[in-house]
Order: sequence, then C-alpha cells, then structure tokens
Amino acid sequence: MKIRLMTATAPVVLGAMLMSGCTTVSAATDAPKAAAGDAATTYAGPFAKPSTLPFHAPDFASIGDSDYHPAIEAGIAAKRAEIAAIADNPAAPDFDNTIVALEKAGSLLTRVRNVFDQLVSANTNDTLDAVDTAMSPKLAALDDDMYLNEKLFARVKSVHDSAQGKALTGEDAMLLATTYADFVHEGALLAPAQKAQLKQMNLRLASLETEFSQKLTAGTAAADPVFDSAAQLDGMPEAAIAAAAKHAEDKGLKGKYAIALLNFTQHPALSQLKNRASRKTLFEASVNRTSSGGEYDTTGIVSELATLRAKKAALLGKPDFASWQMYDRMVTSPAKAMSFMQSFVPALSAAQTREAKELQDFAKAHGDDIALQPWDWGYYAEQVRRAKYDLDDAQIKPYFEVWRVLEDGVFHAATKTYGITFKRRTDLPVYHPTMRTYEVYDKDGSELALFYFDPFARPNKQGGAWMGNFVEQSYLTGDKPVIFNTLNIVPPAEGQPALATWDNVTTMFHEFGHALHGMFASQKYPSLAGSNTARDFVEFPSQFNENFATVPEVLNHYAKHYRTGAAIPPELIGKIEAASRFNQGLGLGETLEAAMLDMDWHRLTPEQASQPPIAFEGKALAEMGLRTDLIPPRYRTPYFRHIWSNGYSAGYYAYIWTEMLAHDGWDWVEKHGGMTRANGDHIRASFLGQGHSKDYAVMYRDFTGHDPEVEPMLEARGLVSKGR
Ligand SMILES: [Zn+2]
Repeated sequence: MKIRLMTATAPVVLGAMLMSGCTTVSAATDAPKAAAGDAATTYAGPFAKPSTLPFHAPDFASIGDSDYHPAIEAGIAAKRAEIAAIADNPAAPDFDNTIVALEKAGSLLTRVRNVFDQLVSANTNDTLDAVDTAMSPKLAALDDDMYLNEKLFARVKSVHDSAQGKALTGEDAMLLATTYADFVHEGALLAPAQKAQLKQMNLRLASLETEFSQKLTAGTAAADPVFDSAAQLDGMPEAAIAAAAKHAEDKGLKGKYAIALLNFTQHPALSQLKNRASRKTLFEASVNRTSSGGEYDTTGIVSELATLRAKKAALLGKPDFASWQMYDRMVTSPAKAMSFMQSFVPALSAAQTREAKELQDFAKAHGDDIALQPWDWGYYAEQVRRAKYDLDDAQIKPYFEVWRVLEDGVFHAATKTYGITFKRRTDLPVYHPTMRTYEVYDKDGSELALFYFDPFARPNKQGGAWMGNFVEQSYLTGDKPVIFNTLNIVPPAEGQPALATWDNVTTMFHEFGHALHGMFASQKYPSLAGSNTARDFVEFPSQFNENFATVPEVLNHYAKHYRTGAAIPPELIGKIEAASRFNQGLGLGETLEAAMLDMDWHRLTPEQASQPPIAFEGKALAEMGLRTDLIPPRYRTPYFRHIWSNGYSAGYYAYIWTEMLAHDGWDWVEKHGGMTRANGDHIRASFLGQGHSKDYAVMYRDFTGHDPEVEPMLEARGLVSKGR
C-alpha cells in the first residue's frame, strides 16, 4: 500500500485518493481470467513498458490525459491475471513462486499509478478527477480480491508456516512476515461469511471516505467568509487584500472580499486582522465549516464512518479500530501512543496557560480591554512576537530565494553529509514548466537517482507538501529511484524572484529528507524499499533532515540576499531560532490535540462511535487537560481529512512521535561531531538506506545506541529549559 507523505506544518489533502484500503462485492476468483488476461495483453499505450528515458522517467511528452483510464483498467486486469496465476500454480508453494511472485505482480498498474496519483494531486483537471472517481472503487476492489482470495492465502500461509519460511533471513524474512501480516490484517483468516461481510463494509467505507473528501473540499470553499469592505481587512498585506477581492469576484461577489479558508483551523490572517469582529468571523467560519447543517455537513458521514470502522475492527477480532490499524507500526498499540502523547500534557498545559496570560497582559497593556478569545490568540501572539523578536516574513524572505535554498542549502547539506552530488537536467519532460529536474550521483560518482522539484502553488494543486516516487528502487527489478518533491510556495510575480518564507525553507528540507530516504533505498524488494515504512516511522527521516536548515555552515551557504548577495545577518538568525520556540502552546498544542482526538475517535466500540460527533468531540476535548477552550485542535472532527479520508486514522500521533525521533536523533549527531561525512555514512547505514528491511526499533538503536527519548524534543520546543 502506497503511503503519501504529508507535512505536519502544512498538511496536505489528497482528494479521492486511489490509496484507500480495500473494497468490493465481486468475487474476483469468479472473474473470467482469460478475458482479464486479454484486456491486459492488448493494452499498448504509453505505460505498457517502462519508459525508455533515463531511469525509466515518465515520458510526459508522450502521455495524454486520455491515456490514464485505459492504462489503469489494463493494469488492474493484468494484476488480476498475475494473481490468479500465482493462486492456481500447480507447483507446491514456495517463497519464490508465491511471495516473490506476488511482489512482482502489478507492475503495469504500479507504473501508471505512480504517475497518475501525482498528477491528480499536483496538476489535476476535470478529466483526471473523473478517472480518479471512476477508478477508486475498482482499485479498492482489486485489493480485497487479492487479500481475500482463499487459494492465494492458503499458499502464503503454507510458505509462512513451512520450514523454508522459518529458515529465511534478512530481507527475505521481512518480506514474508509483512506479506503474511498484510493478508491477516485484511481479513484472510476470516470464515467465508465474514469475508463477504468485510467486503461489504470496505465498499461502504471507501465510498464514505470519498464522499467525505468531496464534501469537505466543496464545503470549505463554500464557507469562505466574505467581507463588505477593505477596511474590515485592515492589517492584512495589500497583496492579500487584493487576492481577497479577486477571490470574491471569482465567486461572483464583485466588490466584496472573500478570504479562502485553509485546511486547518488557524488561518494566517488571524494574526494580521486588526478588526476583532473580522477575526471572529474568520475564526468561526474556519472552525464551524462542514458542521452547520446543509448540503456540506460532514457529521453524518463521520458518524457512520466511525461506527463502521469500529464494527470492522470487531469483525477482525480487535478491541477497536486503532488496535487493528496499528498492526505494522513502530508504536505497537493505541495505549502506548496515548501514553506517549500524555507525557507532553503537563509541560504543554503549563505553556498554554503561561502564553495565554502573556497575551492577555499584552492586550491590556496596549489598551485592549478584552477577555482573550480563541480568535485573538494569533493576533496578539503576532504582536508579542514582533515586540520580542521583531521578525516578519518581509524581513526574512529576501534571503531565501527558492532555487538558491534548494541548490546551495538543501543539496549542499546532502553533499557535505552524504557525499552525493547533483546536476540539473533540462532534457527530460516535466508535467509543469515551473518544475526542475536533477540527476543525483552517489559518493563514488555513480548514478543514484533522479529528482523532480515542483515548488509552486497553483489552483489545480492540492495544498501542503509531499514526496513520492515515479519509480521505486529495487534490486529485483534493477530500477533506480525517480523521486519528486511537491510544495506550495507562493509563486513569484512575473519577472520577480521566487522567495520563500522560513516555513517554506524548513518544508523544503523536510520533503528532501523523504527524498533521501527514497534515494538511498538499497533493497531487493520494492515494497520494503526507501520510504515504504510505517506511518510512525516515515516522517522521521524528513523531520530529521529539517535540522540541517539551521546548521551554520549550511545556512550561511544558502541564506543570501537575492539582490545583493549579502549574507543573512546573524541577529536575524538568532531571531528565527528564538521565534521557533515561541508560541508552542498553540503550535504543538493544536497538533497534540488533533492527534489525541484522532486516537479518541478510533478507540470506540460501535455503540460509543454512533453518538453525535460534535457532542463526543466536546467531551474528548474537555478531558485532554489542555486549554482547548482557547486553542482548538488543528483539525476539528468535521474537517479532519487526514483521519476520515487520507489513511491517517489512528496515525496522526505519528507526526509527534517522529518529531521526537528526529530531535533525539539530532541530539546524537550533535554529541558526535555534527554534520560530518562519517556521521552521514553512519546515518545512511543505520536507517536512511534501510527502508523497511529491519524492525524500526532495531534501526533506531543501530543509529543512536538507545531507545528514543522525549527530552530533546521538549527542549527544542522550549517546553523545558535546556539543563544538560
Ligand atoms: Zn513528511
């Protein structure tokens, strides 16, 4: 199952993704196999074979929108035929003819989906959206048909239980273990009647998830607050006010001003708007979206989803959905995830109370006689930030020209640490003209990978930032990795340089950490390669890589004024660092609240899950021990896309868990000489090049020599003082 990588800082949303679990009612084994095979063999489109470009890079010059539908159909048919051939193989089951054969199945489908999934996320149109909608249930059905195929599972189980299976070592043993666990997870051990029931549930779940996603997208746009005059938006930058005017006009409200809501609760304009009533309007539009009745209300879907998920877990013999979902994680149970999260509550709760008082006092001292409300937090936090750190984006951005940050910062850090080098290629086709492509060379000068960088926001790109593979590394196929990073940096005006905010800069380092995970992949089996790791491990390499952004040698190399070339002044760096520890009561607080809310939702029995969502959420928030009255979760239940339609259910904690790993891991680096080539080789050997070839906890101990500890994160977040 392909995992999409989303940043916590700017979470992405993937619409009706082709990645949701499983689904169908049709009994695949009854499908006419010859016909399926024919459909596959007659396909002759651009995805029929690996492209002839270097690294088998997608040949965007020869792929048209109309090519995807037939390619996905043919890919599904081909995979079905391949699976049937494995299940029906007259030879006795063994590791090669069953487990490795399964690993090889579906190459056509993988080839087209690796391209399609990225395009429908990053550069979509009505045609691609329609293909997505049409194919989603078929792809989910394909998964079910494989995992619930009795003959196939009998062979997998036979290999798993055999002497040959038990004698396997290393990556072979891991492939067998994960393959078997995936089948069991998807219900392979169930009786036939239960399997039929599970298929029905999966079908309904998939359609609910898609419906949720579509309603949320439409409902968020419909909830954009509209203002009558520019005066109400006083405090926002002129360009943002102009954008609001344009946005209103696009909505057919010429002469008015509309602020486009973002995926998450705290809109940046909340820190700018001087007019308190406008802040309240914007805040309430954000937190109440898709829960106020009407055609876009998602609470009914949420209720059904939560209930059905709880029922599914019960059918699969698990106490709750979270326990079922966490079968392949580094954190092995919901209770462990909860107790990890609760370990932050005392320090965080104190920070929230301290910060609330500071903001309240600031308001009073500046003549604002108010009782602090959630819509005031961002505004006064920004005032305090300015007073304390005198730092705003306009000051910083001229030092962060996007391409220089990439080449002289992100790449430079990787060259210094890992010895890899980069060369721009302009001869390979791209899906959007603002992208750039680089060939990556290993420390010995050999070809390592191909890297695409797609930095700028556009209307047909989903929000956030993510990484993915066009081609997965595998010694089995002989393929080298082809990787992309996708971001949403505000594009430059015509003729102007592209400038990044500090948040953009850290996101660039973050996504490139995922890219390195993919580039350093050195696995035999693609399903174990590179970033194909658990939800609560996969964000570790990326968050770890963010640390390089502030290493002086790296920062001084890329942070240069775009016009004068002058180095960024040291006092500005000091302010950036101090500011990163500011306002953590909100920063970490809203994330932790969302993560606990996610876990609360997915530890319910079916009866508990069927209670009205808003009432349940209210109770869950009240019991967290945090100031949820002033700091709502980053996502409230009705717009928590990660958990209702993006596969992050019982997994949002992973952002905090992996951040903890990243800080603890960086602590090791700092204590062992910093950014050296020797440390780079150690990092690559212990986890960055290991994919999922080993147990996660083992890889982590290989790296630092101990189990992960939470203190470095608390210190980095400024929640405890650095006493070591
Ligand atoms: Zn990430």
